[in-house]
Amino acid sequence: MRLKNQSGVKEFLEKLQRENRLPGGLLFYGPPGVGKTTASLELARGVLCLNSREWGCGECLSCTHYDRVVRDILSGVWENIEVYEETNGKKIFKYLSGEHPDFVYVPPSGGSVKIDQMRAVRDFAYMKPALSHRKVVVIDDAHTMTREAGNALLKVLEEPPSDTLFILISEGKDQLLTTIVSRTYQVEFHPLDEEVFYELIGERDRELYESSGGSYTVAKSMREKREIFRLLDEFLSLKPDKVYEVSTRLDKLELEDKELFLFLLEERIKKNFLEKGLNYDKFEMLSQRIAELRGGLGRGLRLSLGLLSLYALWR
Ligand SMILES: [Zn+2]
Repeated sequence: MRLKNQSGVKEFLEKLQRENRLPGGLLFYGPPGVGKTTASLELARGVLCLNSREWGCGECLSCTHYDRVVRDILSGVWENIEVYEETNGKKIFKYLSGEHPDFVYVPPSGGSVKIDQMRAVRDFAYMKPALSHRKVVVIDDAHTMTREAGNALLKVLEEPPSDTLFILISEGKDQLLTTIVSRTYQVEFHPLDEEVFYELIGERDRELYESSGGSYTVAKSMREKREIFRLLDEFLSLKPDKVYEVSTRLDKLELEDKELFLFLLEERIKKNFLEKGLNYDKFEMLSQRIAELRGGLGRGLRLSLGLLSLYALWR
């Protein structure tokens, strides 16, 4: 099992698996980025394994298919369960064209877990397993679930199909309907141990460990933000080679990081104008260009080109 830290959790789940005592619903809760999703994916592998190994044998037909599913999930190409397709007038779930017929992973869709997704989960839950002996549903970030979605899920948990394991992942218990919580077996996850954290993040950064609360995900995003501030300073040095280097680096970042860069750039230009008497016409021209760049990002504009033309105006 790749799950690091959380050794108590690992032993506990192993025991449940070995003794065939897994309940119908599990709730993994705790801070973000400490291994809840990893644990759910690893556990599901074992539950579905045709050779009934605790964490999967890695060789049977189920494990082979399942490993491809996990690769898709981790690389972000997993297709959401809510997607329906019409084929010859017949509605089918698109996930069934995926790699493992007895497993679904449900992440939030547009910021929350929605009722359509839970309806699809319900339909899935009442089907017979097609490859393995059981089926598994993982609902990630269940704390984002809408009230309607929660009620729909509750109905399924009230009459749970005996061959389906539900794993809910949540940052806390309070955000979920108490009626849902009471129908699951709750497993608490803790912040990462310092040593495990350093190993994952690749450096011994004590300050980062403390400010991220021992969360790998939070730390990673904090580090990316720090990187953006560094890029901004380099860009504002207005040295041609730096500007070019920063612009091309930015092309490789996520959309939200590019947006953040533009936002911070505008703030700095404003400050420059107010404190250092940047020429007003120039200030207005630059602000307008940044607004255009922002709009262009959504249409797939290459930020580097936009920034180089902005630089040409500024110089
Ligand atoms: Zn197997």
